[in-house]
Amino acid sequence: TCCYSLIYVSSLISIEVLSYPHAHFLVSLQVLLVFAKEDSQSDAFWWACDRAGFRCNIARTPESAVECFLDKHHEIIIIDGRHSRYFEPEAVCRPSDQEEPSVLPLLCAGFSRRFVENNSVSACYNELIQMEHGEVRCQFKLRACNSIFTALEHCQEAVEITSEDHIIQYVNPAFERMMGYHKGELIGKELTELPKSDKNRADLLDTINNCIKKGKEWQGIYYARKKSGDSIQQHVRITPVIGQGGKIRHFVAIKRPHIDNNNQVECYSLRHRDRRKDSMDDRSVSSRSSDAPSLQNRRYSSVARIHSMTIEAPITKVINIINAAQESSPVTVAEALDRVLEILRTTELYSPQLASKEDDPHTSDLVGGLMSDGLRRLSGNEYVFCKSNQSQLAIPVTLNDVPPNIAEMLNDEECWEFNILELEAATHKRPLTYLGLKICTSFGVCEFLNCSEATLRSWLQLIEASYHSSNSYHNSTHAADVLHATAYFLRKERVKSSLDQLDEVAALIAAAVHDVDHPGRTNSFLCNAGSELAILYNDTAVLESHHAALAFQLTVRDSKSNIFKNIDRSVEFRTLRQAIIDMVLATEMTRHFEHVSKFVNSINKPMAAIEETSTSVSANIRNSPENRLLIKRMLIKCADVANPCRPLELCIEWAGRISEEYFAQTDEEKRQGLPVVMPVFDRNTCSVPKSQISFIDYFITDMFDAWDAFATLPGLMEHLSENYKYWKTLDEMNCKSLRPPPPS
Ligand code: AMP
Ligand code: ZN
Repeated sequence: TCCYSLIYVSSLISIEVLSYPHAHFLVSLQVLLVFAKEDSQSDAFWWACDRAGFRCNIARTPESAVECFLDKHHEIIIIDGRHSRYFEPEAVCRPSDQEEPSVLPLLCAGFSRRFVENNSVSACYNELIQMEHGEVRCQFKLRACNSIFTALEHCQEAVEITSEDHIIQYVNPAFERMMGYHKGELIGKELTELPKSDKNRADLLDTINNCIKKGKEWQGIYYARKKSGDSIQQHVRITPVIGQGGKIRHFVAIKRPHIDNNNQVECYSLRHRDRRKDSMDDRSVSSRSSDAPSLQNRRYSSVARIHSMTIEAPITKVINIINAAQESSPVTVAEALDRVLEILRTTELYSPQLASKEDDPHTSDLVGGLMSDGLRRLSGNEYVFCKSNQSQLAIPVTLNDVPPNIAEMLNDEECWEFNILELEAATHKRPLTYLGLKICTSFGVCEFLNCSEATLRSWLQLIEASYHSSNSYHNSTHAADVLHATAYFLRKERVKSSLDQLDEVAALIAAAVHDVDHPGRTNSFLCNAGSELAILYNDTAVLESHHAALAFQLTVRDSKSNIFKNIDRSVEFRTLRQAIIDMVLATEMTRHFEHVSKFVNSINKPMAAIEETSTSVSANIRNSPENRLLIKRMLIKCADVANPCRPLELCIEWAGRISEEYFAQTDEEKRQGLPVVMPVFDRNTCSVPKSQISFIDYFITDMFDAWDAFATLPGLMEHLSENYKYWKTLDEMNCKSLRPPPPS
């Protein structure tokens, strides 16, 4: 009376179950009853199947069982083992080489359970449900895994599965192809044993680890090293897999080669091009003209060309990358990127937008006056070069012949507080020649240029004579002052270690010539007046172009003062010339914010980020050619407008001189009926303290903060803050002049 049943689970799997491996069976489970005779036991299973919603077949003989199984592939087979006189239950499952029919070879996996005879429907139902939730589901899952691995084996993306401790457990063939390894060389290895690409900085690896250890997915660009040693840029997505005990048990990394910007742009362009084509087609539908198709084709092909251009400006690439990123971004991000794009599409990226004209007339006048050139051009107001008056003072033959009082003054040259105005007086307005000789000697300029001191002296005299002593500000004392600040900055440790001697020589020459032949009028004035220079330089960086060009013209005009005569054919000269021109042009104020922003973003910020870690990395930042260029530009710009950082007395004098020059320009504009570029600089109404406060607020503070962060200039910053307070105090007293009124 013991019921001996063999119950087998077949190997069938349906595609629906694969797609929903966690769901209940979507195809109803099938049961095969192999019972020679119908009785209460087979009936109980029949009704149990009915209750469970399983489909049920009954076979009477082993042969019909096999036939039925081959037809239906039941998941559960129940064989009646009570009556050996009809058939041997084991025989139904016996391998077929025994010539007896068997379902066994047809089962990939089988499980046997014994069911003690019990004809209660509930008992049978329980048995079936236990099997469904146990072995059958397991089999389904296992078989689903098989299919998933088959998918992994055939997919295009490289897949790597590691254990929680980063030991490689699986790689797919795409991974083997991408990395050039055979899986045997990888499985069981720890990730750290594999060669790394040096382009993955340690901090990136830390970021990845921190992210995935917290159970978060990491996605990004990663450089891996192939077996061949080549580096490959990959887009990687690493997903932690939670397993036993709710802990991370595996990491799945999915990798594909990273498509570089060019290709991304190309893909985007193609998609974009299609859109353009659509809209073009719409238009051509309404066009009835007979040549419409050819016109349309021509226009389409030119639009297509534009969109698939291989030569693109970096800004186009940037815009395309943002466009592409928008497609896969949430709405809020996409909208923010829209605003970014709007800004990027303007040309004046680096010019701060002033709120409104009436905000502060001093600021808006200064900005209008200094940061723009060709506003409007009026004809008939040619600018005429002023002939400078040669001073009678004898020019020294060498530095040794310098009068003792001047020589003594020059001894303080390395000090920031050096009094250039005393030198101006002592040299009868020839400070550039004397200071130039002293500084150039100290920096070994003659040795570098392979020229004699006499040539250098003659050159300095020529340059100095080409400044207009009649200008109250832009005269040779300003040039000497800028040269002094330049030398002072070049001696700062950070600057010295960032630049080489060619840079130093270029900076000194640029400082000396940077305002040569300055007419004492701004670019806007020259453009408005339609001056010869404005016409020559197309209203663009008129003065700065003139200073740079004239400096070279003057230098090569006469061999006796040609400091370049012994290097003029060399590569070194080309480099030097380029550096000088770049620095002189950098003094142009229309690009002030561009130069400062680039310096801050490319030098200050990256250096601050690595400050604590390594000095060699910081040197790498400073010594790249691009960044050296930014440092040189910043250096000359700061030297050029360092007057608010000089000791108070000097600062006041410079403020007086620049104001006087602006007043003279306003006077002339009024006289000639030209537009008044900076109306606040009217000698009858101007508040000098207000103009200085605006100048410092707008142009000086940020720039010197950045330069101080780089070069370390506590003395200058101290003066700047003192001077600023001085102007503020005067302004609070409603004082418009340079100094407070004498106590009555
Ligand atoms: P540069 O003409 O090469 O000397 O360029 C410097 C610009 O800054 C010039 O346009 C000067 O007029 C201006 N500038 C320099 N110092 C001051 C100052 N203290 N107040 C107002 N503007 C100044
Ligand atoms: Zn200047």
